[in-house]
Amino acid sequence: MTAVNDLSQFMNQFAPPQLAEDWDNVGLLVGDPDRPIQRVMTCLTITPESADEAVQQQADVIVTHHPLPFRPLKRLTTGQTGSRLLLQLIKADVAIISPHTAFDSAATGINYMLGERLGLSEGRPLVPAMEFDEKLGAARVAVAPAGSSLANLIDTAKRQFALERVKYVGDPEQSVSQVALACGSGGSFLDKALAARCDAMVTGEATFHTCLEARASGIGLVLLGHYASERFAVEQLATVIGDAFADLQVWASRQESDPLQYS
Ligand SMILES: [Zn+2]
Repeated sequence: MTAVNDLSQFMNQFAPPQLAEDWDNVGLLVGDPDRPIQRVMTCLTITPESADEAVQQQADVIVTHHPLPFRPLKRLTTGQTGSRLLLQLIKADVAIISPHTAFDSAATGINYMLGERLGLSEGRPLVPAMEFDEKLGAARVAVAPAGSSLANLIDTAKRQFALERVKYVGDPEQSVSQVALACGSGGSFLDKALAARCDAMVTGEATFHTCLEARASGIGLVLLGHYASERFAVEQLATVIGDAFADLQVWASRQESDPLQYS
């Protein structure tokens, strides 16, 4: 029978922890490695909604993109949302695995998946992880179909991610060949994208000042929203885990949603 540790080891192969950023907290974060498991829920984030779903649906493991716990804990009480959810999940014997930035950067991780969704080719890491494997690394660069414009990239993104609108910086008519891809809050990769002569960057969210810098530098910037830029990948991850473990029932959380709304 599959145990927590089998799934944890599979995740470590799929998204090697060496690829995670130094500040991150990845791997098996909560739970008994030897405990047998049958039901696995993937999600973007552990929230009151996804934690309730995991307990009600009797998940044995949550594979959450965003880690919980993330920072070192000095107390575990119900006084704060993160520790309250941890207590709830520990009581229900739900283990927690988080691949986070290792999943962003994995060979077929989120930034790779982003490039596929956007119809880009010839992907490579934007920041190669030299000491580990230079074919792997943080963020990616990929090539748009010949003759693409920023407007084409935006239209594809809206269609692929079922978005009514996206925020962007730049001239829709500007031509786009090389595209930087950085899921989540990827604004900090703008300098690297410029150094790699990218014509555009697709990320989840960026600060106002990063947007100004993009406009001043003439690079297009497409902001999908943090949720849209990563949620699709935990849905694909549920399929990957289900394909690897025939004895597990795996699903992506049906209750989590983007906290940001448009009026
Ligand atoms: Zn994220």
